[in-house]
Amino acid sequence: MGSSKTKKIAVLALQGAFVEHEKRLKNLGAECVEIRQKADLMQDMDGLILPGGESTVQGKLLTQLGMLQMLRDRIRNGLPVLGTCAGLILLADELGKDEPAWLDTLPVRVRRNAYGRQLGSFWVNGEFQGIGKVPMTFIRAPYVESIGEGVEILAVVENRIVAVRYGNQLGIAFHPELDEDERIHKMFLDMCRQGF
Ligand code: GLN
Repeated sequence: MGSSKTKKIAVLALQGAFVEHEKRLKNLGAECVEIRQKADLMQDMDGLILPGGESTVQGKLLTQLGMLQMLRDRIRNGLPVLGTCAGLILLADELGKDEPAWLDTLPVRVRRNAYGRQLGSFWVNGEFQGIGKVPMTFIRAPYVESIGEGVEILAVVENRIVAVRYGNQLGIAFHPELDEDERIHKMFLDMCRQGF
C-alpha cells in the first residue's frame, strides 16, 4: 500500500447520498467500491465512507445484514473512515434522547436533527482546520454536543462542533460531497495514504 498507488475506497451504499461521494473520489483518482452486503466487507480497502441519509434506516439495515459488528471491528482496527451527517451519527458512541449507539467507535455525543425544523437545512462558508474556508451544506444535520478524550475539533459553526477527528475517524455533520469543493475528500484520501 505505497503512497503512490491508487487508493481503494469503499462507500457504504445501502441508502442516502453515496453516489455523490463516489463522484468526488473518482475525480480525485481513487478507486471506489460499493458496500451493499456482508461479503463486500471481506475485501481489502484503504478507507471507508459512511454517507448521509437516514441513520436509523442505515443502522437497522446494517444490523439486519449482519454488517454492524464487522464494520465496528474494522474501524477499531484502524480502517480510515469518513462519516458525513448520518454517517457521523452511526459512528458516535452516544446519541441524545436515550437512543442506542450504532457503531459506537467515535467518542462523541451527537444530537440528531439538532437545528430544529426551520434551520434543518442551510449553507455556510465555514472554517475547517488545516484547509481554510469550505462550503458546508447542512441537511437536517446533527451536531457534536460533547467530545471525549483525544477527539480533535476541526470545525465549529455558530458555536456548535460540526467536524471532528479521532485518529482514523473523521466525522462531519454537513455534506462535503454536495459541493464542488474537493478538499475534504482529498484530506481523507491523505489520511488513507498514511495507512493506519
Ligand atoms: N437527520 C438524519 C439522521 O438523523 C441525518 C440527515 C443527513 O444525513 N443529511 O440520520
